[in-house]
Amino acid sequence: MQAFEATNYYFEKAASLLDLSSNIKTLMVVPDRELRVEVAIEMDSGQIGNFIGYRVQHDNARGPFKGGLRYHPHVDQDEARSLASLMTWKTAVVDLPFGGSKGGINCDPKQLSRSELERLTRKFVEKIHDFIGPDKDIPAPDMGTDAQVMAWIMNEYSKFHGFQPAVVTGKPVELHGSAGREAATGYGVMLVTREALAKLGKTIQKSTFAIQGYGNVGSYTARFLAEKGGIIVAISDAFGAIFNQEGIDLAALDKYVATHGKIVGFTGGDSGSNEQLLRSPVDVLIPAALGGVFDASNAAEVEAKMIVEGANGPTWPEADEIFQQRGIPVIPDILANAGGVVVSYFEWVQNQQHFRWNLDQVRREEEERMVSAFHKVYELSQKKSIPMRTAAYMLGISRVGRARVLGGI
Ligand code: GLU
Repeated sequence: MQAFEATNYYFEKAASLLDLSSNIKTLMVVPDRELRVEVAIEMDSGQIGNFIGYRVQHDNARGPFKGGLRYHPHVDQDEARSLASLMTWKTAVVDLPFGGSKGGINCDPKQLSRSELERLTRKFVEKIHDFIGPDKDIPAPDMGTDAQVMAWIMNEYSKFHGFQPAVVTGKPVELHGSAGREAATGYGVMLVTREALAKLGKTIQKSTFAIQGYGNVGSYTARFLAEKGGIIVAISDAFGAIFNQEGIDLAALDKYVATHGKIVGFTGGDSGSNEQLLRSPVDVLIPAALGGVFDASNAAEVEAKMIVEGANGPTWPEADEIFQQRGIPVIPDILANAGGVVVSYFEWVQNQQHFRWNLDQVRREEEERMVSAFHKVYELSQKKSIPMRTAAYMLGISRVGRARVLGGI
């Protein structure tokens, strides 16, 4: 099964509980537009570097297409399609006036120099600038991209269309970005984790957490959970995992990662493997890296009491069924990691209004959106006796479907 098929499996499961005609379903599954562009640049060595970039615009019934750009060797058309469709349901679940899109460039950003990354980004914008824009499609950071890449996008776009900071979100705070955007996904993961634990009669304080991935989402999630008294007993990255039953000292870990670029070798815990982390007997397991982590081969071995999907698409359908049978609640990606796009929306609003919000306001508004979305999804799942993923899809699909019907085909 491929990623887009998996997303559509979840779509079908929820859509079958709604009264939708098959034509409407097809309309909602098939992406609106798919771009695939050649992005050739001059490398520092003087050689030509050949790269392929993608942008899939999935649905814009509720507003402009919205979604991140990923720079990673796994990026391809199918992955972009799957992630674009997740964005459509995600923006609808948290009730933002956006649709869904996603894209990226197939490359390994760790092997590129800063100037190669800049040339690659500018060339990509040169190829797609007519298809993006503040009211058309608004990119944002995702795996392998950051505020600097967004700044280049804004600057390159302005060469063709003039000053339009709202063309992209996740920009540096000094350059029309929003306070709290960089930490927003992790902050949102903490908020939904807090709400979900409360339903089990627990609190973040004294609960144990294993976090797979220590990039933007994993590291901020860990920090916010630890601030609330959570015990982070396991963390992994692409190279391995570390374990400490007393709780990993995050400040010391961050210092180590800043000099070594990975967590392996950190002496504040025992080292182990990523697979071991997935089997940790913790209160909450948080995948916060690539998709496709849980499959039929490892889902039965998960010993966590709850899973919160910080990553996009970490669970294959067969693993999802196993978690369901075993009674392990899964807080789905389209709800759990929506904090990023929620604050992207605030950034877009601030750019349109030429007015800045302070961090307190951003955090307050993010909390309101995330908590209210969590409760809507939770209540629907209770009322219908369905998993939270199905409930989240039902909510997203019905909102997109309603917009489609009201707007006309
Ligand atoms: N890439 C993030 C996501 O998957 C953020 C998207 C955005 O802010 O538009 O949700």
